[in-house]
Amino acid sequence: MAFDRFEGVVVDSATGRVLSNVRVAALTSRRIAVTDASGRFLIDGSEGGPVTSDGAQPELVVVGSRVESSASGWSVDWIGVDGRTASLGTSPIRWDASRLPSGIGWLRFRSGAREAMWNICRIPGEVRVRRVFVPGISRRRGAAVPESLFVRLPGGSGRTVLARTDSVVRVALGASFQVAGDFHTHTFLTDGVHTLDDVAAHAFGGSWTPVGGAGSSATGFGLDWLANSEHGGSFARDRFGNPFPSGAKWRWETLRDVSWPAVDSLRRVYPGRRLFQGVEWNVPAHEHSSVAILTGDHDAIARFEYFFDEWDTDLAGGGWADAATKNNVNSHAKALAGARWLREKHGDSSWFLINHPSRLQRTSISDLRDLHDAGGNVFLGIEAIPGHQKAPSRGGYHLSDKSADGDLVARTHGGADFMLAKVGGVMDALWSEGRRVWVFSNSDFHAAAGGDYYPGQYNKNLTRVPDRTETGILAGLRSGATVAVMGDLVDSFWMELDDGLRTASMGGELATDADSVEARIAFHVPTTSALGDSPAVDHVDLIGGRVGKRLAQDDPAYRASTVATTSILGARRVAGVDQGPDGWHMASWKVPVAGDSYFRVRGSTMARSTAGWTDSVGNPLCDDLQYPNDDAKARSNLWFYSNPVFLRKIVH
Ligand SMILES: [Zn+2]
Ligand SMILES: [Zn+2]
Repeated sequence: MAFDRFEGVVVDSATGRVLSNVRVAALTSRRIAVTDASGRFLIDGSEGGPVTSDGAQPELVVVGSRVESSASGWSVDWIGVDGRTASLGTSPIRWDASRLPSGIGWLRFRSGAREAMWNICRIPGEVRVRRVFVPGISRRRGAAVPESLFVRLPGGSGRTVLARTDSVVRVALGASFQVAGDFHTHTFLTDGVHTLDDVAAHAFGGSWTPVGGAGSSATGFGLDWLANSEHGGSFARDRFGNPFPSGAKWRWETLRDVSWPAVDSLRRVYPGRRLFQGVEWNVPAHEHSSVAILTGDHDAIARFEYFFDEWDTDLAGGGWADAATKNNVNSHAKALAGARWLREKHGDSSWFLINHPSRLQRTSISDLRDLHDAGGNVFLGIEAIPGHQKAPSRGGYHLSDKSADGDLVARTHGGADFMLAKVGGVMDALWSEGRRVWVFSNSDFHAAAGGDYYPGQYNKNLTRVPDRTETGILAGLRSGATVAVMGDLVDSFWMELDDGLRTASMGGELATDADSVEARIAFHVPTTSALGDSPAVDHVDLIGGRVGKRLAQDDPAYRASTVATTSILGARRVAGVDQGPDGWHMASWKVPVAGDSYFRVRGSTMARSTAGWTDSVGNPLCDDLQYPNDDAKARSNLWFYSNPVFLRKIVH
């Protein structure tokens, strides 16, 4: 059971002294961080060290999904705010937190004349515990009431953190994990120049035998999952790069006969990782799309490629009974039909997202809206940080199309697609409608020599998932709990909105009647990236906007790729702030609640007003100012982008 996150005020466990202005927060499973108000780290949150307890008081211990009291001789009652009361027995006591009464109430401990009250708030997925005092009970420290709240990491061997009696401790119930992944990779089977074994070994860490060479191995670039998703159409090489003796084959054939068996066998080589069989769908009339269908065989993905890929003009088909119903009219309508096919046939087991969306100016915001309407939650969003990051034209973006404002919309800005890089651009416009569509970062790996980085070497999607199964990863990707990263600028990230009673994290929604909320992030910067660099965040920005109604197709705004209500709401300089022994940073902003809204965060290595790279408020400039792009430039100009947290204002 992974410990998820909590917050409190810390007491030195040796002296009992309350550490003033100290905060505990964050974070990822098995990691906590303790900082002072200036962000300086005091405690490395990794597991280890003794568990301590004074043993004399009926402390509550929140351990993952359990709430425990360890002292004996206290009787415990539940007093709900709804008036319900119940005797819960005598401590020591242990509850599976799911068996605690739901809602808000108090646990009352009584032993003779002594009494202690703990406020419990159990809401879906989370339990919060707060020590409270009641009239007539001494508020003096050291009185015969429990003083300390102990929280420890799971397994009983973790470090104990003692929180002050009036602090709030929150623990999310149920494990959640962060995984790193890549949707978008190629091999010899299409226009890549490596085997899948080679690609997977670099992503996961493993060995492979190069074509015509001796065995080789790679330590891996830290991915937990990877999708093989290369073009549909027709290609002439086998998985080792040799020409098929009979000439080119349709991809539905090679998915069936070559790619699927290769993926299936590699899954046994990497039982702890997840390898998905996908395809890079040449979306009719539009840009490419990473698609995957989570099934036990090749049939679904091969059918999808045959019926809907723009480059697959075969009309004979693979012996499917309905093969003759295929048409080769590559229209927007066919793209939407493909999206609907995925949703209707594989609604619980597939995904698609638009790759390098602005590259060829073949996919507009209204197309994205249409695809989302057709695909529902099967449509995940866009590859907002494309691959080919060290190509001479960054991302392989090279067209000179301009917006009405003169922006080069078909070029990357700070390595990101303009749809995301522009504050108030396409993604902000979609979020301002309340659309649950997300941004991702993929390698689009074809070749180690040239403009590409291997999967995980530069582009990563860091996603919170309920478990590491295929369906758990799909659930996490759909939830919006992803931060899209370049160059391991962060290797862990947490963001939440908090109104003092409830929280919501990336992809979620906080419904609140509060006048203001706190937007809070915690992130970890690795000492060494997959590239061997030591990245450093200069600053982070909080960006947000209003959420209005979903636009109708006949509304002129449906075709507008900008939104005026999004802005940079705040910034925190990170450079120059000491980072802790384990590299955690935190930032928070108090923001007024004006109405339905959303909040997101970006971070960068580049200070504001860095000539050629950023403007005066920190927006990334067009990368063509730095052309020709290269490895050194790509490594120096790193960004990460969160997905948004939504806020719904409750009006009484
Ligand atoms: Zn592509
Ligand atoms: Zn590609």
